Formats: sequence, structure tokens, C-alpha cells
Amino acid sequence: MSTGFLTVDLDALTSNWRALDGMTDVETAAVVKADGYGLGVAKVGRALIKAGAKRLFVAAAEEGVELRQAVGPNVEIFVFSGHMRGDTDMIGDMMLTPLVNTVGQLTRHLEALPEHPFGVQLDTGMNRLGLEIGEWASVAEIALSQNCRLVMSHLACADEPDHAMNRQQLEQFHLMTDGIEVPRSLAATGGILLGPEYHFDMTRPGVGLYGGAPFTDAQPVAFLDLPVIQVRDVEVGETVGYANSWTAKRPSKIATVSGGYADGLIRALSGGANLWHGDQAVPLVGRVSMDLITADVTDLPELPGVLSVLNQDQTVDALAERAGTIGYEILTSLGPRYQRRYAGG
Ligand SMILES: *Cc1c(COP(=O)(O)O)cnc(C)c1O
Repeated sequence: MSTGFLTVDLDALTSNWRALDGMTDVETAAVVKADGYGLGVAKVGRALIKAGAKRLFVAAAEEGVELRQAVGPNVEIFVFSGHMRGDTDMIGDMMLTPLVNTVGQLTRHLEALPEHPFGVQLDTGMNRLGLEIGEWASVAEIALSQNCRLVMSHLACADEPDHAMNRQQLEQFHLMTDGIEVPRSLAATGGILLGPEYHFDMTRPGVGLYGGAPFTDAQPVAFLDLPVIQVRDVEVGETVGYANSWTAKRPSKIATVSGGYADGLIRALSGGANLWHGDQAVPLVGRVSMDLITADVTDLPELPGVLSVLNQDQTVDALAERAGTIGYEILTSLGPRYQRRYAGG
């Protein structure tokens, strides 16, 4: 077996959901877009439902179809991209709830599936998805008189608690939605941590469930172990890997492990990250290549059979920082070649 092992701790996942749920007095849904942030939408979705989530969010209707097949009929599945052209059959047949983003989407939805539930996404300043205040004013009465299940918006800077944008968007959301009877949602993981003013009727955490910042108390969920293919001795002055980017300054033992940028261990990790043998860190040396990484294991007391990339010490955020990115990108890049193991649940 030469591919890496990705272990997903479903008990840690559900414990993160419960912890975030415990921070509010309102309903806690769960965001499982991008294949459950790379960890497997069927397993992740089922575990979250077992823990108590009743509403799940995906980005695209196609993801909703896969999720519906995994979780059965009794869960509401919202689709952030809304009711796109060509999606009507999927939305209707699979009982998906599109979050309409434009007047055109609202019209398409009400014409194609008049009784079918939907939600509305509002733009409160992020300028990415949703109706702007004038558009909302022109269609709110029609929308709210139909089977509208949720009115939501999304915060652009919620991971920075002191950012003035948070309060601006909160005020805009109030301005656009105060007085309506349909449930409202503004907070993702970051918004939950901003406090009760941001919670409204439902929160929609994603990354915190999977162990990522800004939920700093999250338990790690993803663990990645890579098999060592060979270990060699390298003399002083010899180089390792593409472009000779690392040169031995002492007689060294170099382990070559199975996993590379094709597996989501992005090339920007070159020369920055650690791998782990139990609780002992060893430095990645040389360039990350497509299928392989090299690490300096000279200081280990024994030759390793496996080195870890994600463990209790090196979380997705710690690894992301080494590569100048965010935990979200590390998670959603985890490659298809790993053997996936699910623990707990
Ligand atoms: C991705 C997403 C979320 C979840 O955000 P996290 O930061 O992962 O908690 C919630 N709402 C919307 C609109 C999103 O796109």
C-alpha cells in the first residue's frame, strides 16, 4: 500500500457541531459544500444529522443530489448558488431548497416550481451573492407570500471580530429584514463567535465543524499519514529533489514519502512544513513534487515506516500557515488518492 491514509474523526466532527450549537440559543445547521470540506459529504452529512443537525447547505444543486441520496428525505438541503438554469429537475426531484440570488432566479423558481420551497440570499455588502437592497424591496412582498423558508446573508470579515464591516453588515441585514416572519440567518463559523446579535434564527457553520479557524477550540477532524517508500543516506554537499533546492550540511538520512501536490500537499509547502514521527517533528526538505515529499529524518531514533502530515500538533491551520494559505484550502484540496478511514460516528 503506497497511498496515504486520511482518517476522519466523526466523533470530533460532531463534538465540534455540539460545541458551536452550545454557543447559541438558536438552530445550528451545517455547511457540507465541496464534498464536506473535502472529508466526504455522505459520511459527514450522516454524522451531523445523527448529532442533531436538521438543515444542511451545499454550494451547487449537483452536490445536493449526492447529499440527498446519502441522507434520505427528512433533512432540508439548501443550495447557495440558488436556482440556476437547468437545475429545475434536480431541485424538484431531489427536494432541494435553492437560495435565490437574483430577481431572475426568483422568477425562474416561482414559474418553474410554484409551490416548491426556496430561500432568499441578500447582499449586505460582500458583493458576491444575493439581492441588493433595492432589488429586495421590489420583490420582498411577492417572495415572502410564497413558500419562502429562509432569508440569509453572509459576512465578509467575520474572522476579524473587530472589523467595522461586521457591524455594517449586521445593520444592513436588520434594515433589509426587520419585521419579516421568515427565519433569518447571518452567521457562519466566524459569525457565531461574534456573539448573540449575529445569531438570528439559525447559524450555518462550516469550517469550525471540520476543525478549522476561526473556531480555535475546535477538535482536529482530519489526520493524514503517509507511508515512507525509502530512506537513503546523503553525504555532505549532496542535494535532494528538483532544482537541487536542498543541500545536506551534515551526513543525513532522507525519507521519501508517498504524497505530493497531486494529493493536495501544495507545492508552497516546500521547505516550510514539518512531518511527524509520533510526537517528533522532522523537516520537509527540498521541493514537494507531484507524488512525493522528502523529509530529513536524521534525528529520529529509528527509521520511520509512516510520517504524519496532519495530526494533533500540525492541524490544517498550522499546515496552511506554512504554505501561506488557509485551513479551508488545505481541507478542500485533500486528494482522491488517499485511503479514507472514518473513525467514530
Ligand atoms: C461557506 C459558507 C458558509 C460556511 O462558512 P464557514 O466560514 O466555513 O463557517 C456559510 N454561509 C455561506 C454563504 C458560505 O458560502
